[in-house]
Amino acid sequence: MATEQAPEATLARPSALTPPTRGELFPTLTREQIERIAALGETRTAADREVLIEPGDQISTFFVVAEGEVEIVRPTNRGEDLLVVHGPGEFVGELNSLSGRRSLVRARTRGATRLVMLTREALLDLVQTDAELSEILMRAFILRRLELLRSGRGDVVVVGSSHSAGTLQVQEFLSRNGYPYSYLDLERDADAQELLDRLHIAVDEIPIVLCPGNRVLRRPTNAQLADCLGLNEAVDETTIRDLVVIGAGPAGLAAAVYAASEGLDVLVLETVAPGGQAGASSKIENYLGFPLGISGQELAGRAYTQAQKFGAEMLVARGATRLACGRTPYTVETEGGTRLLTRSVVIATGAQYRKPPIPDLARFEGAGVYYGATFLEQQVCGDEDVVIVGGGNSAGQAAVFLAKPGRHVYMLVRGPGLAESMSRYLIRRIEESPNISLLAHTEITAMEGEDRLERVTWTHRESGQSEVRDVRHVFLMTGAVPNTTWLDGCVALDRHGFIRTGVDLAPADLESWPLARAPFQLETSMPGVFAVGDVRAGNIKRVAAAVGEGSAAVSLVHKTLTG
Ligand SMILES: Cc1cc2nc3c(=O)[nH]c(=O)nc-3n(C[C@H](O)[C@H](O)[C@H](O)COP(=O)(O)OP(=O)(O)OC[C@H]3O[C@@H](n4cnc5c(N)ncnc54)[C@H](O)[C@@H]3O)c2cc1C
Repeated sequence: MATEQAPEATLARPSALTPPTRGELFPTLTREQIERIAALGETRTAADREVLIEPGDQISTFFVVAEGEVEIVRPTNRGEDLLVVHGPGEFVGELNSLSGRRSLVRARTRGATRLVMLTREALLDLVQTDAELSEILMRAFILRRLELLRSGRGDVVVVGSSHSAGTLQVQEFLSRNGYPYSYLDLERDADAQELLDRLHIAVDEIPIVLCPGNRVLRRPTNAQLADCLGLNEAVDETTIRDLVVIGAGPAGLAAAVYAASEGLDVLVLETVAPGGQAGASSKIENYLGFPLGISGQELAGRAYTQAQKFGAEMLVARGATRLACGRTPYTVETEGGTRLLTRSVVIATGAQYRKPPIPDLARFEGAGVYYGATFLEQQVCGDEDVVIVGGGNSAGQAAVFLAKPGRHVYMLVRGPGLAESMSRYLIRRIEESPNISLLAHTEITAMEGEDRLERVTWTHRESGQSEVRDVRHVFLMTGAVPNTTWLDGCVALDRHGFIRTGVDLAPADLESWPLARAPFQLETSMPGVFAVGDVRAGNIKRVAAAVGEGSAAVSLVHKTLTG
């Protein structure tokens, strides 16, 4: 049996902590509400057993049942699985009705029916302009998708192993895209081996993904998965956009939401799936408005749904490979060779924390391994000893901040000491603190633990001597590398590769600047090309900063489009 998927995935239940009721999932619209919808579309009758939507069809129509019934079924090997029967006043659809992606289910009339129908464009107009109906439809769409995720009632089966990194990558890609799937684990499910045998697939070819239409993917890349599931096929890649946003972390998603909600025609490009680095955070505790914290994936899922509601489009598993910034409209080249034309660009490609090559590191991220040392992490560490890896100023600040009576800080640096890389005042404080030990020429070589980090091994690079310590908290402060190599000199960068903007642009950066005005605050050395979030030189590496810059850039985009 395929196992059910956890419900949280990338989406968030609108409000309730308890499971949704039938009324929440399938609300009944009033006569007056149906008339409001009918005014934007058309009404027609349908005979018994007319198929309105087939699984795999791109959803282009939204149906409200005015009279009669519509059944929603999911085809399986054994026939059809009945999901729900919509009665009068109920409507057909879920999140793919907004994005225009392929339907996961079949919708078919039961008896004679009268249907109110809207095009996808009219549906988007409705949810953007009618607050009451927007609340009802969006809530139901989100809850229905959550229900599909929870029950694993997608049209995709993943066969893999919890010990395989490839399986994790496939699962992460599907859940970060909010795509329901069922999972068979070779170690746990007898059916898994049987299925592989039937398909003549060797164990070393896992993970395999069974896509709709009986396509079988072996060890697929994200791009192959996106292609197989049709995640990008509803997007028109031929029009000239007002704005192309590159990167769908918090900064890019904020830019997309604000741009789309303010009427710009915006397309987002993302190498993997929405979420960015924040998507890797199990709980963001310091983002305004979430006193209980929010997982990065949930935050990204909400933002992505919001962007879709306002009509922003997204190409996933499709990174930008080149920005041709010679003339406007600008051309953004993507993986797969497409060339997208746009009047303005927001670069939000973020940065990747440098990760030392420690086996099992990913397993302990957020469970004993941290990339920042704020008050929050300090609290989490209690009175326990900590390790800090890195010799730069951020590592020094963290060491001073975390050192306190009763807790010892071990600073591990690959080089001979701190003098090269750290400000003098920090070095003095570290030297004067009895609670900080500096271990030069030393690096972590192993991490162990069950659910969280429990033990660390560090090794002296010259003597080869290792030491095992029961340390449960490691701060990796080895710097971040911006995702800018693809820009290939198109916009000015600082010496670390971050994008310079606004007043930080030096005269030499602006030698080819063609306008009489100076660059706007978040504008790069190319007019109408903006940089926001972690990829921008001088940015504060926080979700809130990324979101703030993403939204602020949109007001500047307006100025460049109208100026
Ligand atoms: C484990 C962890 C925990 C964190 N916890 C917190 C916290 O608690 N609070 C907090 O405020 N901050 C936290 N941060 C920092 C925060 O996540 C970042 O500051 C924030 O995500 C930056 O957002 P961004 O959109 O600028 O970049 P990113 O989140 O890095 O997103 C960039 C996106 O661009 C995509 N991309 C890259 N290159 C391309 C390309 N060529 N084409 C298309 N797409 C591309 C990437 O795949 C990625 O999705 C944490 C970071 C990590 C790693």
